[in-house]
Amino acid sequence: MAKYENLVDRFLKYVKVNTKSDEFSQTVPSDPKEVAFLKDLAEELKEIGFSNVRTLKDGYVFAEVPATPGKENVDAIGFISHVDTADFNSENVNPQVVTDYDGQSVVKLNDEYSLDPEVFSSLKKYKGHTLITTDGTTLLGADDKAGVSEIIAAGEYMLNHPEFEHGKVVVAFGPDEEIGIGADNFDTKEFGAKFAYTMDGGPLGELEWETFSGAGATLTATGKAVHPGTAKDLLVNPAVVLIDVFNQLPEHDRPENTEGREGFFYLTTFEADADKGVMRMIIRDHDRTKFEERKQMLTTAVENTNKKYGDAVVLVLKDQYYNMGEILKDQPEAVDVAKTAMNELGITPIIEPVRGGTDGSKITFLGTPTPNLFAGGENMHGRFEYVSTTVMEQATDLILKIVELEAK
Ligand SMILES: [Zn+2]
Repeated sequence: MAKYENLVDRFLKYVKVNTKSDEFSQTVPSDPKEVAFLKDLAEELKEIGFSNVRTLKDGYVFAEVPATPGKENVDAIGFISHVDTADFNSENVNPQVVTDYDGQSVVKLNDEYSLDPEVFSSLKKYKGHTLITTDGTTLLGADDKAGVSEIIAAGEYMLNHPEFEHGKVVVAFGPDEEIGIGADNFDTKEFGAKFAYTMDGGPLGELEWETFSGAGATLTATGKAVHPGTAKDLLVNPAVVLIDVFNQLPEHDRPENTEGREGFFYLTTFEADADKGVMRMIIRDHDRTKFEERKQMLTTAVENTNKKYGDAVVLVLKDQYYNMGEILKDQPEAVDVAKTAMNELGITPIIEPVRGGTDGSKITFLGTPTPNLFAGGENMHGRFEYVSTTVMEQATDLILKIVELEAK
């Protein structure tokens, strides 16, 4: 029998529930489907035996596993995952279980789509594993229901094995990570962890403690619409004005030209007619100084354009999140414990700066250092998503090892 008897069954149950978040929503959580899922999850946590299960204003469900006797003075450690799934078909997820995968065969998802190791070379790592895939019509939602299932399995193990000594463990399940707002008001005080981990990474060994810093820019251009036949020295074309701003930014610094620690400006939307134009961009950089310089570069470009076109452009810049590495480099305990735990489990840590943000980027700045650990998913956010049940077990082992080390 598997060490975590309910891990895979729960995962299969959770992925069948549609919990896609809604980026156009005005509510928090963004979608009633998430609220319903979190409500059921809270009930399930109580049934399993978690204590102090409660739902917060922002939709988060918090719960605890109390310390074992004599370990009440150990600082609480937290584990966090998100329940929403990405912007891809999430209706009627129908997970397929491939037992004892041979590491070389093509896995047929449906008549149209398959997982081919020649295309997705990651498959070759999973010889002998049981894989869970989609049926080719939806995403899987291992991002991040693998994390949800692993945290619950670790909690259940602790509750059923009183001989396993540990301090208090606090857990949190939340909405809207995929639309970047779920952790905006994460209540770190109520959570009460010395440090925490999001279980939201990909393959075995991932340990992420550096992210981008991110800002969003909205540029609105107001034109002067005049008949083009008599437009000389009169007409101001909003599209031309916005293109003038864009062309002042370095051509290299776009997502399609950058990798590693290189930051960028990403033009996400552009709409314009004779009266008005709107251009949206996101700005990303790991280095805070360069991040600030990028914002200044855009501001200067707008000023230059406005000199030419009579203050036609209004720029609104908004910081979205910051590189958690700025804090974690001075408070490395969470990262160090995770590395030690992986080493003791024979897992090689894979540490690379994330070219994106995580919920931990926000939670770290709200007061709880929160790096990100692997949950096991591959090819996330689409129909080719899959996960190995062995890696899900290893992620659960890792949670328990971290808790064990901290209580020593
Ligand atoms: Zn995720």
